[in-house]
Amino acid sequence: MAGFEGRMLEVNLADGKVGRSTVDKDVLRKYIGGSGLAARLMFERVRPDVDPLSPDNILFVMTGPTSGTNLPGGSRLAVCAKSPLTNMWGESNCGGSFAAELRSAGWDGIVVQGASSRPVYILIEDDKAEVKDASDLWGKNNFEVTSILKKRHGGQRTGVLVIGQGGENLVKYAAICNEDRDFAARCGLGTVMGSKKLKGIVVKGSGKVPLAEPTRFANRRKVVVQKAKENVATMVLGQMGTSAAVDVSMVTGDLPGKNWTVGDNTAVASKIGGAVLNSPTYLTGNKSCRGCMVGCKRVVRIPEGPYAGMKGPGPEYEGVVSLGSLLMIDDMAAVIKLNELCNDYGIDVISFGGTVAMVMDCFENGILSAKDADGLELKWGNADAVMKLVPKVARREGFGDVLAEGAKRAAERIGKNASDYAVVVKGMEVPMHDPRANHGLGLSYATGVRGACHTNDIIYSIGVGIVNWPEFNLAPGVATMQSQGMAEIVKNSQDLGQIYGSAIICYMTISVMDGEDLIDIMQSASGFDYTMEELKECAERIWLLKRGISNLMGITAADDTLPKQILTPTKEGGAAGSAPDLQLMLREFYPLRGLGPDGRPTKEALERVGLSDLAARLY
Ligand code: SF4
Repeated sequence: MAGFEGRMLEVNLADGKVGRSTVDKDVLRKYIGGSGLAARLMFERVRPDVDPLSPDNILFVMTGPTSGTNLPGGSRLAVCAKSPLTNMWGESNCGGSFAAELRSAGWDGIVVQGASSRPVYILIEDDKAEVKDASDLWGKNNFEVTSILKKRHGGQRTGVLVIGQGGENLVKYAAICNEDRDFAARCGLGTVMGSKKLKGIVVKGSGKVPLAEPTRFANRRKVVVQKAKENVATMVLGQMGTSAAVDVSMVTGDLPGKNWTVGDNTAVASKIGGAVLNSPTYLTGNKSCRGCMVGCKRVVRIPEGPYAGMKGPGPEYEGVVSLGSLLMIDDMAAVIKLNELCNDYGIDVISFGGTVAMVMDCFENGILSAKDADGLELKWGNADAVMKLVPKVARREGFGDVLAEGAKRAAERIGKNASDYAVVVKGMEVPMHDPRANHGLGLSYATGVRGACHTNDIIYSIGVGIVNWPEFNLAPGVATMQSQGMAEIVKNSQDLGQIYGSAIICYMTISVMDGEDLIDIMQSASGFDYTMEELKECAERIWLLKRGISNLMGITAADDTLPKQILTPTKEGGAAGSAPDLQLMLREFYPLRGLGPDGRPTKEALERVGLSDLAARLY
């Protein structure tokens, strides 16, 4: 069998019918797979003005040429749809085992359209697929449903994607859970599943993940595995997980605290950092996504105190900071428990943390009090109150119904000047790396194709000096606290990010492969004789298409902004006195990126990469 062939399972939940389609080879080659291919399919099949929660929004569950292979970082899955949180292009990716199982079953992606009138799940067993009743699962949360579906359909190896109560109740930032510990959490794609009454997708495959040239792929994989074993970044990830970055970020000024208002939050962060999470008190082991040897996932327990008894997946960096430092919660056990609750109910930890941080600022500034919040004293550091808020948000009960809308809409409903405290870009809560310590992050957040995003490019990794990709003019040693010249670095980083996001390879392994490895892997996995120049053109095309889709959905240059917190220098910490000059960076960025002054891709840029059909719809 050849490699990645664009074999799509088509499911219409309106009538329960399943079918198949195959993506044209030329389209596959140009859009690679993953989120890139999903963008092309969305452009062709989804009306830009579609209500994200209507049956006409389509959910794309995508793999890529390297998905499900045992390449380090090669276990990813991308989920894409119009986002109910941002009303524009939405994408999210996660690890786990679902992608491998889907490809073993002979599918490269799933296209879910329509909506069911009753709860259902999709069962895929190799080339057979059916829509099954999920009435007995509706109302249950992620961990229980995952366990039930695995037992019902073949055991631990079965791939399972599910939503919890957050998705069922259309919380605007509901996550999709893959294997208890991996989440496609951003952009509210679990909400799209909930709107379709789709509780889950189960897949069992008995074949091999298809590769165009298996021997060549295996030989190159050996080289990459050896490099990963000797790579400092992946060694640290294996030993300490992503939470190791907390300890680094609190020194460099990269760690947001107290809703982005303090530059030095060491007093809080030092109690919840990587050293604490990885101490024998909490850490019991580590795990990997299927086929990856990095092992960055933490397995933890809470041995004592009010949350004693918890055992299972520990928080990632983003969870530690959004549920800890951002809210001034300095109790490691509380952060672990909060992370577990959000994951079980199925809500994105970053959006939840950002929304609660806005509320805590409203409490501090006299806009809200406990009587507005069902009696909860949502003051800085009050972990117990936040703990009680998670189920209220997921079930849309009382004040939780307001917060289920995300920081931007919730602030608008709260009124007064609450919106001043919503740290969002294009309606999405900003992830947990501070652009004041790396101005490129500011440009990246302002122009990210899915809103403020920490994974659509690799600018964070460039900032910490672990990226060396001469083919993209990306090298260690970037002076991060300057804005001049940052546009080119961000543009190139977005391009490399689009290749990784479409292939789909985990960004955490960005420092492992070089250009020769990437070309060998891409050719032997896909069967296309890609060159680096061609991949770079694919990246441009994919970025411009995602941007153009969002333009068709209403995004303009006026949306390429940053919240005032991020544009205000702090007086203390590793980035004291520093703030990104966004206007300068945007002036340099737009022409490089092929955007006109109104924020749309120019006709010339679109025609250069073969997107004249997008140009015709934009102009
Ligand atoms: S590096 Fe970590 S998150 Fe990425 S694929 Fe490997 S185990 Fe999964």
